[in-house]
Parts: sequence; structure tokens; C-alpha cells
Amino acid sequence: MMRRLWQSAMIGLARSETAKSFMQNSRATSFLRGKYVAGESVAAGCERAVSLFERDGIRSSMFFMGEYVDDPALVDETLRNKMNIADAIGGHQLDIHVSVDPTQIGHVIDPERVQEHAQSIAERIRQLAGHRDGVHCLMFDMEDASLVDPTIAIHNTLQDMGLPVALTLQAYLRRTREDIGRQLSRGSRVRLVKGAFAAGAKLAFQSNSEIKDNSRQLIELMFSAPARSSGFYPIIATHDTALQDVAIETARRNGWAPGEYEFEMLLGVRENVARDLSAKGERVRVYVPFGRDWWPHAVRRIGENPKNAMLLIRSLLQ
Ligand SMILES: Cc1cc2nc3c(=O)[nH]c(=O)nc-3n(C[C@H](O)[C@H](O)[C@H](O)COP(=O)(O)OP(=O)(O)OC[C@H]3O[C@@H](n4cnc5c(N)ncnc54)[C@H](O)[C@@H]3O)c2cc1C
Repeated sequence: MMRRLWQSAMIGLARSETAKSFMQNSRATSFLRGKYVAGESVAAGCERAVSLFERDGIRSSMFFMGEYVDDPALVDETLRNKMNIADAIGGHQLDIHVSVDPTQIGHVIDPERVQEHAQSIAERIRQLAGHRDGVHCLMFDMEDASLVDPTIAIHNTLQDMGLPVALTLQAYLRRTREDIGRQLSRGSRVRLVKGAFAAGAKLAFQSNSEIKDNSRQLIELMFSAPARSSGFYPIIATHDTALQDVAIETARRNGWAPGEYEFEMLLGVRENVARDLSAKGERVRVYVPFGRDWWPHAVRRIGENPKNAMLLIRSLLQ
């Protein structure tokens, strides 16, 4: 119940145009942008991806920010930026891993167009990187529960077309066990997250401990023998070191070597943990957001860490 209330408050703040315009223009909040966002431009995003790789061998998943976009011009700008970042990091011979929210490429305006838009990005990735090693793909982020079916359907269609795609699934949803089961048999790439959304008890686990328990069980499934034989690629996206340890232990027990799966974390969150994992030989990726609309991304990070909420309140009061 508490988690649901808290997440709903964060989602409300993320979607409020008034909060966004105030926070994005206030000096008091600029520390959040500096911490969680690489910068405004494709060049800034690319520079961060190059430095993460050169310094610590950490790969990147590039995310031009924005969500629930209802302005066609902004959808076009988002698409251009997704293409440009794929070109830019591909030019540095890095993995081309581009994250996308369906609601930023047209779902709000015309759900029928989302597939066409996603397909154009995935085709560009294949054209740029299909011939070279790496985990190149268009990664579908997962938004609220109403978007799970349409997102999986587009992912599956593009995957059946032979395009490089990957899918995020959320441990807070009860249905995810079955969704992962179906993706296992497709040999997909799946990024497991706890979930930054909330839903009623019929659809979702309500407490953090239930979500963590479910995450453990899903990790077991993602590193199972059927997963291995189908060519499934597990991506464990969490800052929770206990879950990272569960993934490593399960991987070893079932014969998976580092590089046959990966960990993913967010830019600016527990960076020492990401560096340590990479230094131990694990494959690590960092989600690198860039662009102008940083408040919805940052407010979720505030929600995940009470210390950030205190820092924000203090800077606003100064
Ligand atoms: C790469 C990536 C992609 C994601 N994509 C999606 C998506 O598509 N859809 C979706 O619903 N959610 C997504 N998420 C968010 C995810 O669902 C969780 O809300 C978020 O990762 C927090 O959960 P956690 O597993 O890190 O565990 P938590 O229990 O929240 O955190 C684990 C530990 O990390 C610390 N920590 C967490 N956040 C911070 C912070 N900001 N600063 C400092 N310490 C912190 C906590 O204090 C705690 O000690 C994504 C997360 C990652 C890492």
C-alpha cells in the first residue's frame, strides 16, 4: 500500500507539466540534472558513453529522454535523436543499444505508428552494426501496466522480422513470470527490473519484499537450462547488490559465463557498484539519459532514494 502511494505520487510529479517546467528551470535542482543526466545533446550522450567504456569497460544504453509525448513535433525530434545517437556511438565502435519508451515515439498520438517508428530505429541499428560483434539492439523500456501487451506485441513482431530488439519486464507485475516464460522460448534478450510503476493487488505485488522475492524467482527462470538452450540473454537491471549476487550465484550454478548475460544500472546511481562488477569481469551497462526533459527521469530517482528527496528540499529552501 505504502509503495503504491509513493510510486503514484512520483508518477504524478513526473507527469505534472507545472512541476516539470518549474524544476527544469530552477537553479536549485540543477544538481539532479548533473547527477543523473549526461547532458542535452547527442554529443554529450556519446561523450559519456565513450568515457564509461574507455575508463571502466562499461557499455551504455542510450536514452533520449521524454515520456507520454503528445506533440507530433516532439515525437519527430525524439526519433531523430534516437537515430543520431545510434550513428554517433556506432561511429566509436561501441555497442549500439538504444532504449525507447513506446509513449515517446507515438503511442499517445497514434498507437498504430509506434511499430513503424520502432522498426525504423531497429533497422538503422542493424544497418550500422549487424556486421560486427556486440549486443546491438533497440531496447523497449516498459511503462505502466496498460502498455505491457502492446509493447510485447511490437517487440515480438520486430523480432520475427529478424531485427535486433530487446524487452524490459517488471518484477512487480504478477504476469511477468508467464511473459518471461514465453520470451524464453523465443530466445529473446530480456531486461528484468523491479518496476517504477504501481498497480492494484490483482495485477501487482504490493510490497518491496514481495517484489524482491519475485525478482529472485524470475532470475532463477532467466538462468535456467531452457533459457540457456534457447539462446536467451538475461539482463539484470538493478542497484540491489543482493539481487546482483543472486544472479551471479545462479549463473555460475547453471553454467553461464560472464558475457553470456549482463548487469545494467542507471547513470549516477551507485557507480562504485557498477565499476566493481566490471572490474570482476562481469559485463556491465549503464543507462545514459540525455536531452532536455530530465525532470520525469530525475523525480523517479528521488523516489528511489530518500536522501535525494532531502537534498532537493534543502536546495529548494535555500
Ligand atoms: C537500466 C535500468 C532500466 C530501467 N528501466 C525501467 C523500465 O523500463 N521500466 C520500469 O518500470 N522501471 C525501469 N527501471 C527502474 C526500476 O524498475 C527500479 O525502479 C529502479 O531500478 C530501483 O530499483 P532497484 O532494483 O535498483 O532496487 P532498490 O531497492 O530501489 O535499490 C537498491 C539499492 O540501491 C539504492 N538506490 C536506488 N536508487 C538510488 C539512487 N537514485 N541513488 C542512490 N542509491 C540508490 C537503494 O538505496 C538501495 O540500497 C530501470 C532500472 C534500471 C537500472
